[in-house]
Amino acid sequence: MKLGTIICKFISAAGISAVLVAASCCSSGSAPCLSRAEKDIIDGEGIMRVLTVEEKEDSLLLRSECTDFPKRVLRSERFRRLADRMTATVTDPSQDGVGIAGPQVGLKRRVIAVQRFDKDGEPFEVYPNIRIEYMSGEKQTGPEGCLSIPDIYGNVERSMTVVVSYTDMNTLDTVRDTVEGYTAVIFQHETDHLEGILFTDRMLPAASMPEN
Ligand SMILES: [Zn+2]
Repeated sequence: MKLGTIICKFISAAGISAVLVAASCCSSGSAPCLSRAEKDIIDGEGIMRVLTVEEKEDSLLLRSECTDFPKRVLRSERFRRLADRMTATVTDPSQDGVGIAGPQVGLKRRVIAVQRFDKDGEPFEVYPNIRIEYMSGEKQTGPEGCLSIPDIYGNVERSMTVVVSYTDMNTLDTVRDTVEGYTAVIFQHETDHLEGILFTDRMLPAASMPEN
């Protein structure tokens, strides 16, 4: 933390050429460095604030497209903190969700946490820089809700099987995984968030219903 402060002071003193050097050693392609605001969100204590469509500023952020994390960030303790805090947030009794995405905690970044109902122990796992590479033509329809859209539930048609790719946060390798069934639904719902798409955009009209 202290080192970051020192580097910032050095950059502002040394001018624009130093800023450009600092940016090029962190960002890569479409993966910009973390902003001060993003670092502040990640570095906070306890569970994270979950954005909802009921707040105007939140709803604008929830409609944003997300960018990747640079590998340098994925190697950092700060990313591990984010992974831990996203998992703590989605599993907190106040939320009790099965998945959460970057924009829902205020970050326009491609990261999701998903409960793997298809694995022993049904663990939550965190997937940075995730994309869906394949969606099956075979579909399944089931009820969905969203931590960011209180009290709305409805049926959504999703692919039965997806192939996802992401950066493994331990090896930094690009990994592909084939996921089926309900867990595939969670992956589709959460990766939609990274494109600014909410499940209500896909909800089947006749199936919307209030919470019982
Ligand atoms: Zn959601």
